[in-house]
Amino acid sequence: MRKINLSNFQVAKSETARDINRRIILNLIRTRQPISRADLARLTDLQRSTVSLIIEQLIEEQWITEGALGHLPRGRKPRFLHLNSERAGIIGVDVRPKLTTIALTDLNANFITQDSLPTLESAEEFLTVLARKIKKMRDSHPQIFCEGIGVGVPGRVERKSRKLVFAPNLGWRNVNFKDFLETETNLPVEVDNGANSCALFELWFGKQSEGVHDLIALTVSEGIGTGIIANDQLLTGVNGMAGEFGHISINENGPLCSCGNRGCWEVYASNSATVDYYSETTVKSQNGRKTDDSMRPTFDDVLRLYELGDAKAVESVERMAHYLGIGIAMLITSLAPSLIVCVGEITRVWEKIEPIIIQAVEEKNPLHTKTRIIPTNDQAYPRLRGSIALILQQHFVAPPVA
Ligand SMILES: [Zn+2]
Repeated sequence: MRKINLSNFQVAKSETARDINRRIILNLIRTRQPISRADLARLTDLQRSTVSLIIEQLIEEQWITEGALGHLPRGRKPRFLHLNSERAGIIGVDVRPKLTTIALTDLNANFITQDSLPTLESAEEFLTVLARKIKKMRDSHPQIFCEGIGVGVPGRVERKSRKLVFAPNLGWRNVNFKDFLETETNLPVEVDNGANSCALFELWFGKQSEGVHDLIALTVSEGIGTGIIANDQLLTGVNGMAGEFGHISINENGPLCSCGNRGCWEVYASNSATVDYYSETTVKSQNGRKTDDSMRPTFDDVLRLYELGDAKAVESVERMAHYLGIGIAMLITSLAPSLIVCVGEITRVWEKIEPIIIQAVEEKNPLHTKTRIIPTNDQAYPRLRGSIALILQQHFVAPPVA
């Protein structure tokens, strides 16, 4: 149930109806491909001529294509329709504090090609290099019609201006990816928080999320992000700022966080927090001798040592798992989602850390809500695929409410 907003509404015109029908047909093709026009008319109860008009438009815009002739016992042979995965694509960009990855995918989010670039300190310089990389990628695949660019960023994006408001782990403020990349590439660009895009991807493509209407994507990396789907919609809050659970303080006297608060969840449970903890305990055990930055391990190093059974690494990763559980319990108690999907390098050792997470969740969630907590496959680039969903959802979701 949604209240009608009487200060900002759109009455249903014929274009509204056409737009809704188009989205329904595009979704039916996506989920039931290959499918004939006759089947689409039967499934939607729309007239054949209405279906045909929508199909012609979708073919012209390269979203779908006609395949081989079907075989029926008698009568006309139908041409089957499917998403135009050979000729249409989307560019996805996953911006992370050190490294940014780019991919060209087909409409089913399968990778065609990938590239990466260092995330430069200066947002301006970074955008220039990024635009150049994107152009190069398009030039090397001229046969692909590009539907748009989706950009997942490590911070919140203002809904109206689409600007990245603040990325604490990068120190960037008010960066306008959308305007810059649209001018440089002439393609539609969508930008959102990395965790939001992972949540949308899970909603659209997740094999584990069929029939799920409430879920949270939890991205664990340099920081911690959450993307929340409630009743099949992304929870945005005022101006798109909702979901910063990583910056909720779980200890008001805790260590200082890059956001200015103390004791945020992410200063205990993120990759950086775990590397910090590992380095500090190692320094202490070496009689307080300071290590310089070049000697600081990466999170991958700590995970590798953890798998080799290194005592300090085991202590650090188990501490991280415990604090992940504490925060997940907070998510479950406050939002009671059906599913929490964890994204990040930590999922590589999920089997070992899962019991620690579950124990903390059970201890801290008084209602014992039944929420499934699952890892994504880190090797499948879930964040990068998530950025693809930002473009797909523009065309596949129910029409936006004003
Ligand atoms: Zn914080």
